[in-house]
Amino acid sequence: MTGNPFHRAVVGSMQYVPRPIIWRFSQRYIAGTHLDDAFETVAELNAEGCSATIDVLGEDSTSLQQVDEAVDLYRRALEGIHERSLDCGVSVKLSEMGLRFDRRACIAAMREILSIAQTHGDFVRIDMEDSSVTTDTLDIYRELRSAFDNVGAVIQSCLHRSERDVEALLSSGQTNIRLCKGIYLEPEEISYRDAGEIRESFKRLLVQLLEGGAAQVGIATQDPELITHAEETIERIGVPRDRYEFQMLLGVAGPLRRKLVANGHPMRVYVPFGELWFNYSMRRLRENPRIINHIVGNLFRPR
Ligand SMILES: Cc1cc2nc3c(=O)[nH]c(=O)nc-3n(C[C@H](O)[C@H](O)[C@H](O)COP(=O)(O)OP(=O)(O)OC[C@H]3O[C@@H](n4cnc5c(N)ncnc54)[C@H](O)[C@@H]3O)c2cc1C
Repeated sequence: MTGNPFHRAVVGSMQYVPRPIIWRFSQRYIAGTHLDDAFETVAELNAEGCSATIDVLGEDSTSLQQVDEAVDLYRRALEGIHERSLDCGVSVKLSEMGLRFDRRACIAAMREILSIAQTHGDFVRIDMEDSSVTTDTLDIYRELRSAFDNVGAVIQSCLHRSERDVEALLSSGQTNIRLCKGIYLEPEEISYRDAGEIRESFKRLLVQLLEGGAAQVGIATQDPELITHAEETIERIGVPRDRYEFQMLLGVAGPLRRKLVANGHPMRVYVPFGELWFNYSMRRLRENPRIINHIVGNLFRPR
């Protein structure tokens, strides 16, 4: 783990903090432990004029049984979204579907989820994980995309390779891409570390995607500078509303989210839920202690 001494001290001491207290901190970012909690949160967001993406917390499955359980949860999520007529898709991590130990099982699981989603007219986003699986994730996305049109991928602006990846994706046909900075702490040789460089890369990639004809671009950021740049770019290029949406995390930057919705921009909120919230939160913290700054900063702000 890298980071400054404050980060290390906070993350190190988290293991001694009782779960109910960690839960209090995590609550604003996670809809709850059950699917019904996620549905309730999505219904509230829909009433505010936002669409949503449900993410079943979990990653790095190590057995086919875990993969089956995850697929079943996604099935129930998609059925519940349909029954409640919610404006909502799902986000899936390929490592949760077994990518790290059985690529074929992973693809089979994704095909199952995509078929169920297709039946209900729903969209499935493949989240992007750390750089050890970037190539596999994009390859699997391309394979799935050739059979399903309700699937999208993610590009991270912190990676040097992303411009080439976008180029390749754009030349391979219709693309639905979420653009984000990237949450994982990556090796220096392959990634930008400086916040300014990650921002500039984000701006370049957004222009590349919008001018290059991506079918739909999810602009996933809470960074006010990037949002202003995106609004100006959308205006300058004349991008229609059905070709882009802003995307934000649950519990983050509520006022900015509401302002964008009031300005008429499409907005989608990422809604994680699940039993694995504790492991997930702790792992994220250990991997990237800079998140601590956000958590501390947001504790006292309204959702
Ligand atoms: C919808 C969505 C989907 C994402 N999907 C992926 C993905 O598939 N793969 C991936 O690697 N990353 C993903 N991310 C995470 C993303 O890469 C960034 O790490 C995260 O969004 C923070 O970057 P930022 O652009 O908001 O800018 P920052 O400068 O990091 O944040 C801007 C402001 O937003 C607030 N903020 C940002 N993040 C958080 C947080 N976690 N908790 C509390 N407050 C916060 C802070 O107030 C901060 O000052 C996703 C992000 C979003 C919004």
